[in-house]
Amino acid sequence: MCGIVGYIGEQQAYPILIKGLHRLEYRGYDSAGVSLISDGGDLNVYKSKGKVSALEEECKNQDLSGTIGIAHTRWATHGEPNQVNAHPHYSESKSLALVHNGIIENYKSLRTQLEGYGMTFCSETDTEVLVQLIEYMMKDHNCDLFTGVQIALNYVVGAYAIAILEKEHPDQLVCARKGSPLVIGVSKRENGSTEYFLGSDATPIIEYTNQVVYLQDGEIAIMDRSGRLDIVDLKNSPQTPKLATLQLNLDQIEKGGFPHFMLKEIWEQPNALRTCIRGRVNPANKDVVLSGVLDHKDRFLNCRRIIICACGTSWHSALIGKYFIEEACQIPVEVEYASEFRYRNPVIFSDDVVIAVSQSGETADTLAAIELAKEKGAFLYGICNVIGSSIPRATDSGTYLHVGPEIGVASTKAFTGQVITLCILGLAIAKVRQTLSDEMYHMLVDELYKIPDKMQWTLENNKDIDKFAERFTYCKNFLYLGRGYNYPVALEGALKLKEISYIHAEGYPAAEMKHGPIALVDAEMPVVVIAPKRGMYEKIVSNIQEIKSRGGKIISVVTEGDTTVRGMSDYCFTIPDTRDCFVPMLAVIPLQLLSYYVAVTKGCNVDQPRNLAKSVTVE
Ligand code: GLU
Repeated sequence: MCGIVGYIGEQQAYPILIKGLHRLEYRGYDSAGVSLISDGGDLNVYKSKGKVSALEEECKNQDLSGTIGIAHTRWATHGEPNQVNAHPHYSESKSLALVHNGIIENYKSLRTQLEGYGMTFCSETDTEVLVQLIEYMMKDHNCDLFTGVQIALNYVVGAYAIAILEKEHPDQLVCARKGSPLVIGVSKRENGSTEYFLGSDATPIIEYTNQVVYLQDGEIAIMDRSGRLDIVDLKNSPQTPKLATLQLNLDQIEKGGFPHFMLKEIWEQPNALRTCIRGRVNPANKDVVLSGVLDHKDRFLNCRRIIICACGTSWHSALIGKYFIEEACQIPVEVEYASEFRYRNPVIFSDDVVIAVSQSGETADTLAAIELAKEKGAFLYGICNVIGSSIPRATDSGTYLHVGPEIGVASTKAFTGQVITLCILGLAIAKVRQTLSDEMYHMLVDELYKIPDKMQWTLENNKDIDKFAERFTYCKNFLYLGRGYNYPVALEGALKLKEISYIHAEGYPAAEMKHGPIALVDAEMPVVVIAPKRGMYEKIVSNIQEIKSRGGKIISVVTEGDTTVRGMSDYCFTIPDTRDCFVPMLAVIPLQLLSYYVAVTKGCNVDQPRNLAKSVTVE
């Protein structure tokens, strides 16, 4: 959460920082700010409530000179989103300016101590404590910024990525991380000089360089204009910076002609999933090869149970994964909200496999859940999208989604990418454990390979959802129903609508409706029913009857050629036929489009829904 950008080099910093903030705005956007050391030697801070565009307005007619700077787009945790609480924060003497992503858990006691030493605070944030503490330590130990940061961070409990400027040293930029990501871009200019870029992810960096250093947890870095990049850990041991090449290109993080990232990413799904399965699913011999499983065959052969930890949309894909893996591999699978799991002293056996599912690979609760599982000796498997992120680094093995960067805050292609990856994982485990007949195994692999093409068909045949989305913008509530594999799709459809259109929606297993939610059904209530012509079709037809008898409006997702449910529906979306277990990847598409168009028609900002942000790096 939150975006950090930094620059030191020979170019003017402000345009680079603002462009970077726009690229990072999906990570937080309730306020924004920038700090520059001007050509005249002033340490300027400009900030404003609201989006980056409001900051640009604020910056008009200001001194924006300077070849070093830091900037921030905030997702508030401590203190309301207003100008005072926005970052960067000055230290008391205004000699330092700091931006921060994360939460300082012991900020209250630190603040009380610093106030006891006579320091005064302007904001309600946990962040201001950091900059004050660093200044205090620099004075107390009579040391430079790099050392001061090191000493200060030893007193800090919590998660942070920080970047700091010092007025007296316009030639250096200091940053540090623990629990929140930070990437340093390194670029050599034609005249031989080195410039450094800083980002809380690679998106603000990629247009300048593909050479990066991923700062590791507990590391502090100093960069200067002479090309120096020194890294130490919290105990002052020097660390060697490891240069990596970014696997990202600019097209992937731009809208490419679409009005929103979310719509672009919905349409990208067939290709994204083709990339995801490439090299893993072989249509010729109808086989899957997943090195993450093959390299650790024994752990999967001997495992007693699988626990999947996830949050939000990833939790929904995990639920589909559970259904599939239990069916294909005959292993009990539990799906846990990472935030609950980590705090409830769960029973974890050393022969458990714990799978962490997280798009960003940085989700704080999921990361903490696997750290807990590691202590108990479980085997850890990561399913993430962002390469080099914390979860893949913390796990024993895993599989990347390879669906490309997801910028839209409401997850779409990462969801279907996670589902297909969990299905491939299930097939790979089934192969190791020999729990499927050869015939069934090959048939499932063959069908899985066809899913991207069937997704393309689904997109092409549901284009006109925009035409009737308007009819639902007045609604206050929606109900989503599905059974079996489509129950998690109902949850996901409801979440999408809530997230971006602010309409209350509930997902339910269709048969549970009679145990409560049916009381809500009236002529005002649209009920979305996922009703493919597969297992439990007759049962879901009965559920639809029950809703219709009470006047509810039916929006259905049906299999191509279906006439029964179509005839009972007020609105109907069609998907191609596939195996029950793969229906979710098709059925979710019209639901994504429905929520998108309802939100757009209501005038909501779908890429930056209120109160949300991408990559939940705080608990
Ligand atoms: N905890 C800090 C604040 O509330 C940083 C939040 C963020 O990561 O944007 O200001």
